[in-house]
Order: sequence, then C-alpha cells, then structure tokens
Amino acid sequence: MKQPWNFKQELTACFGKPVAENPTQAMVEAAYRQHGLAWRYLTIEVDAADLGDAVRGARAMGFAGFNCTIPHKVAVIPYLDGLGESAALMGAVNCVVRRGRELIGENTDGKGFVQALRTLTDPAGKRVVIFGAGGAARAIGVELALAGVRHLTIVNRSEARGRELVELLAGKLHVPSDFALWHGDYRVPPETDVVINATSIGLFPDVDARLPLDVTTLSPHMIVADVIPNPPRTRLIRDAAARGCRVIDGLGMLVNQGVLGIRYWTGIDPDPGVMRRALEEIFGN
Ligand code: NDP
Repeated sequence: MKQPWNFKQELTACFGKPVAENPTQAMVEAAYRQHGLAWRYLTIEVDAADLGDAVRGARAMGFAGFNCTIPHKVAVIPYLDGLGESAALMGAVNCVVRRGRELIGENTDGKGFVQALRTLTDPAGKRVVIFGAGGAARAIGVELALAGVRHLTIVNRSEARGRELVELLAGKLHVPSDFALWHGDYRVPPETDVVINATSIGLFPDVDARLPLDVTTLSPHMIVADVIPNPPRTRLIRDAAARGCRVIDGLGMLVNQGVLGIRYWTGIDPDPGVMRRALEEIFGN
C-alpha cells in the first residue's frame, strides 16, 4: 500500500437504492479521469421529504458540492448558507458549492449556456429571442441580461409565466424586454441576432416535434441555439443549419455547466472536449 490508511472515523458508503449511471456522471467523471483526479460524481436519488437530511449529510460527509435537479432546485435553498448572484435572481439552484464551512447555491445552467454562446459571439449588445419561460429560459434570460444583451423577447405559450419572466428581466435586471404570446408559427424579427429554444419541444422521445416557428424567417446572420441535449441535432438545429445559421446544440450548454461545476468544486479547468465526447458516446452527435 502506497498511502497510510487507518479506519478512524469512516463511513463507507453502500447505497441500498439503485444508483443510476446518468450522462452527467459519465461526462464529469471523464473529466476527473483526464485530469487524474481521484474524485467521484455519483447520482443519488433523494425523496423530497428527505432533502434537508440529505444536505445535512452532504455537509457532515465533507462533500465538495453537488448538483440538484427538479424538484430540488428551489426546495434546496432553505438548507443552504447563501446564494450566488444569478441563483438569487432566478430563485433556483442547480449547483451547490462548499466554500469553507458554508454551502453556497449557484446556478450554472444559464452560465453554461452563455459560455457556449461566447464560443461564437459576445452576447453584449445583441437582440435575443427566447422560446419558453420555464427554468431553463429563466436561467438563460438572467445570465444574458447580466452579460449585457440589448433586448430580449420571451415567446411563450402560457402568458402568466412569460410575463413573469419579462418582469424579472425588465424590472430587476433593467434589460429592455417584451413578451410575445405564442400562437401559430412565430416569425423571428429580422434584426434578431440570437434565437434560443428553451422549451422541452424536441426532447427524446418526441424527436420529430416541430417548434412552432416560421423557419423562413431565420437568416444566415442569426445564431440559433437549442437547449435540448437529447438528441443533439434537433429538428430546429437541422432547419437552422440548412438556412445557413450558425448553431449551438444542447450539449454545448450541458458541457459548459459541467465545466463550471467542476471548476467550483475542484478548482481545475477541465477540458470541455473530453466532456463533450463522453456525452456524444451516449447521445450521438
Ligand atoms: P420547464 O417545465 O420549467 O419549462 C418548459 C417550457 O417549455 C415552458 O415555457 C413551456 O411552456 C414550454 N413548452 C413545453 N411544451 C411546449 C409545447 N408543446 N408548446 C409550447 N411550449 C411548450 O422546463 P425547463 O425549463 O426546466 O427545461 C426545458 C428544457 O431544457 C428541457 O427539455 C431540459 O432538458 C432542457 N435543459 C437543458 C439543459 C442543458 O444543459 N442542455 C439544462 C436545463 C434544461 P408553458 O409555460 O406554456 O407551459
């Protein structure tokens, strides 16, 4: 044995529940392996009623942090010691980070999207159309506002949710924003720079579902992005590429939120290429 080891004060984990191997796990652990980190990223299912105990357990067991998914993104907040700026604005946490003795809630969904967008353009000064007003749209809208976009249009089927997001963007974040009620095929205004699908339309198994959008209004100067990671080449991405637009698929956002999580937890900057390849092995490309 190369390292000293004793049995003091240890709990050795043995999960009674099945611990699913999920794509995010494959992606994060590929980065750990690449950087020679002896870290693990495990998926643990937690019932809503047990969330407080789970967070106290994570604290007691010295977790560097964890991601949380719906429905825990909002419910986790009372168990944390503080929130990052955008998580506080969104009222949702997808990434918890230990800082000293504190557990701080961050939101890397929108930041991951913006990082993917920055590979093609600087969002500052851009006019953006976002389809959807749920958690993903909220995260993306807030980060784009913080990144200095010029104008945001939220296109949503349900009016109340759409207007609530516009109020947050225009009110708290002071970005000129408007709401468009979604009925029929939306026509993208010609001055738009970036078009984003932040709805669940097109997610497996409904891979042929069509976003109600007049694709003839997409022009080659526009960047078109989709949050759907599975499949990566959604109908929107294929239609937009055929119209000459530059495209960003849902793996871009997923990889970059993972990059940010790993940076928060370990302090290293992982290689996004290795992480993307781990996802492509699962989802295709
Ligand atoms: P929510 O349930 O919070 O929001 C869903 C949104 O989609 C709502 O605006 C909803 O409209 C709209 N919508 C759903 N179906 C339709 C439809 N048939 N027609 C019109 N609008 C529709 O989900 P999230 O925002 O949390 O997630 C959205 C998607 O984002 C998911 O598919 C998820 O996989 C993806 N995602 C991807 C990430 C990545 O890293 N790539 C990260 C996070 C999410 P309405 O308000 O009217 O109901």
